[in-house]
Amino acid sequence: MNYEHYFRKQLDNLRKEGRYRVFADLERQSGAFPRATHHHGRGRQDVTVWCSNDYLGMGQHPDVLAAMHEALDRCGAGAGGTRNIGGTNHYHILLEQELADLHGTESALLFNSGYMSNWASLSTLAGRMPGCIIFSDSLNHASMIEGIRHSRARSQVWAHNDLADLRRKLAAADPSVPKLIAFESVYSMDGDIAPIAEICDLADEFGAMTYLDEVHAVGLYGSRGGGISERLGVAHRVTVIEGTLAKAFGVIGGYIAGSSAMCDYVRSYASGFIFTTALPPAVAAGAAASIRHLKNSSAERARMQDRVATLRAALDVAGLPHMPNPSHIVPVMVGDPVLCKQISDRLLDEYGIYVQPINYPTVPRGTERLRFTPSPLHSDADIGDLVNALSAIWSDLRLQRAA
Ligand code: PLP
Repeated sequence: MNYEHYFRKQLDNLRKEGRYRVFADLERQSGAFPRATHHHGRGRQDVTVWCSNDYLGMGQHPDVLAAMHEALDRCGAGAGGTRNIGGTNHYHILLEQELADLHGTESALLFNSGYMSNWASLSTLAGRMPGCIIFSDSLNHASMIEGIRHSRARSQVWAHNDLADLRRKLAAADPSVPKLIAFESVYSMDGDIAPIAEICDLADEFGAMTYLDEVHAVGLYGSRGGGISERLGVAHRVTVIEGTLAKAFGVIGGYIAGSSAMCDYVRSYASGFIFTTALPPAVAAGAAASIRHLKNSSAERARMQDRVATLRAALDVAGLPHMPNPSHIVPVMVGDPVLCKQISDRLLDEYGIYVQPINYPTVPRGTERLRFTPSPLHSDADIGDLVNALSAIWSDLRLQRAA
């Protein structure tokens, strides 16, 4: 077999479909978010980033940077080992305590990313429990799907946020086998929110555990940033809360929170936790500082919601079609992968605005979109510039406006 030929052909297929991914070469400007420098073949250009998952700009917050500098100077660069072999640093312990306090749980367990926490926890929780069935929301993130696959447990996919379908599937299962319902709070592409309390009711009725991914909600919702489960007052009803330190908290890392026995079980059995070097202490210190700040300050959350409302209102005035939802995610619908990439390229090249196109398989074909994430740091002028640019491109390409 000609392997090189095979690789090129597979890449050509992606190009033909218009969904070959090009990564913009960006250099974020600390102290000037959402501004970044875009490095390209012709030189460099200042751009405004409109699609960052550092939702609150905590990646440049002075408390976070100071904590990271201090820990770096005290402990050096890396952790020096897996958690088991010398890599457990005092900063990891402090961060896990901070996380347990955030969610009001007995315990928390740190992973190197949110992806790893889902993959390792789901595969361990269900994989080692004889006969366990996982009931997985149809729009669950790739990392949850990989964890479920790796568990080799039986899985049933229920229609997205559809309580009747979940109930049907739970009722049809053998009442004596262990069950786990896996779902998210804020779904990152459509920005809709799961009925967490009602899912917990079903879990109680059918004796199931619940596994809630709050990756797109922690830091952003609830009076202390504990996510949608905090806002609804149901965190104590969820068996496992999973989150990331990479989005609203602005650093990197993932975690689960729940009972001491559950966290200890995953700590003791999960390959994806045991056999990898721990996060650098400075990262743990930065994440803990970010969580602490957002527990005590709602100013960032309030300002972000204000920016979301302002952007949505401006899109409405310009007749630009955006998907309504109750969260901070603003999807502007295009419905074609080639057009989506073209609009994104023109925004970058002609207007210095960076938003990446979202194409299949991240979203279903025909629902390609630009996904905007207004932060507390986007000014009225930034919003005006974005909507004017989109409007000009919409006219130029003769795209349909919303009524
Ligand atoms: N869960 C969901 C719902 C996500 O959208 C993502 C990342 O985008 C992850 C988990 C993975 O988190 P991380 O980026 O920290 O690996």
